[in-house]
Amino acid sequence: MKYFSTKDRSLKIDLKTVVTTGMPSDGGLYMPVDIPQISSYVLSEFQNMPINDIAKVVLHDFIVDDLNQSDFEVVVDEALNFNIPLKKITDNISVLELFHGPTLAFKDVGARFMSRLLSKLIKNDKQMINIVVATSGDTGSAVASGFYNVDGIRVFILYPSKKISDIQKKQITTYGNNIYPLEIEGNFDDCQRIVKRLLSDQQIHEMHRITTANSINIARLLPQIVYYFKAVSQFKEYDKLYISVPSGNFGNLCAGIIAKKMGLCIFKFIAATNVNDVVPHYLNTGEYLPKPSKRTLSNAMDVGDPSNFERILELYQHDYQAIKEDIIGLAFTDEQTKFKIKDMFQNQGYLLDPHGAVGLFALEEILKRFSCSLNIKGIALETAHPAKFKEDMEKIIGKNIEIPVRLKERLRLKEKSELLPNEYSKVKEYFLSICG
Ligand SMILES: *Cc1c(COP(=O)(O)O)cnc(C)c1O
Repeated sequence: MKYFSTKDRSLKIDLKTVVTTGMPSDGGLYMPVDIPQISSYVLSEFQNMPINDIAKVVLHDFIVDDLNQSDFEVVVDEALNFNIPLKKITDNISVLELFHGPTLAFKDVGARFMSRLLSKLIKNDKQMINIVVATSGDTGSAVASGFYNVDGIRVFILYPSKKISDIQKKQITTYGNNIYPLEIEGNFDDCQRIVKRLLSDQQIHEMHRITTANSINIARLLPQIVYYFKAVSQFKEYDKLYISVPSGNFGNLCAGIIAKKMGLCIFKFIAATNVNDVVPHYLNTGEYLPKPSKRTLSNAMDVGDPSNFERILELYQHDYQAIKEDIIGLAFTDEQTKFKIKDMFQNQGYLLDPHGAVGLFALEEILKRFSCSLNIKGIALETAHPAKFKEDMEKIIGKNIEIPVRLKERLRLKEKSELLPNEYSKVKEYFLSICG
């Protein structure tokens, strides 16, 4: 598969360049030149297949021109080594639990896949790759865990001092080896600004290979296509299927749209957001108005100018009517999010996290428009484990929340991090001292 830039359709770039650079130099985003098709016969076989075997079929054409089959299979088997169960909540609503990976959030899927793919693509290169990411919490933990001990890769994670939760900090600073946590005396925007400068520093580029691992990188997005196939293949007969995706940068929804375009039978998507409602506003009015993000309970979705929106436009050739045909946008306040968490916990015995609550609320709003005689099904994606937001969650439901064993073990490990001032030159100096 070759990849083009959303700013230049004539480009045909190989996968290794796409993954090692992250972004084309024209400022666009990489997209595959073709959308491979999965036949309905093959789809019918997915029902009883494990997710890694489904991935070998679904992702094959995106990857295998540039990587041999056996390396491809190792990448998939190592990355997708945890369950992604579909839990039935009511007759027509199910929740797809994407949080059974090591850091309890769906970003594990993309980070684990990208790290292993990158390592295989560069295995014959002499020079190491340096990844730099800024995080307000969630991305950092998935990237630290996903890239830990992966050959040929060093990772620098910049996080704002005193502005991430204790759990998140543990999830970034307890790895060591090839993971370098940098605590910056500033806020998230300062971290982001330093990362951007490192990535565009010519002096660094002359000596070292450097890239980033945010959801701009298509290697994080591709594996997310797979769980849509896994989930939808569980259903035998239905008239219409809605999938609700709690969204921030819209990588997850974008993966779902690609799955649909590959032949998966999904009637409509619901783009569910918190009050950072740029995309629902666009879907309802046709106006795209980026704005500064507002802090909410579902903070991994606090995005005011979603980076993957451009990919969605590209998938529909900028045809607004076609986009509206496939995607419904709904936004919810923190009050509504809290209400839905309590409601589901008390009435269904199911504990949602704040992100999943936004998704489920949206799905219910849509499905209640239909009479129950129709065979309409809905899936809401649950993107994080509620224990990741222990403090907020305990306030909402008034009960203690049990932390899963794999996170508890990490909380016992010793933190190690480099405290640096909010100064580009100091961070660069540190970076160069590590790279040698
Ligand atoms: C990152 C994140 C999201 C948003 O996903 P996008 O692909 O950026 O839309 C939703 N929920 C959780 C828990 C996340 O960490």
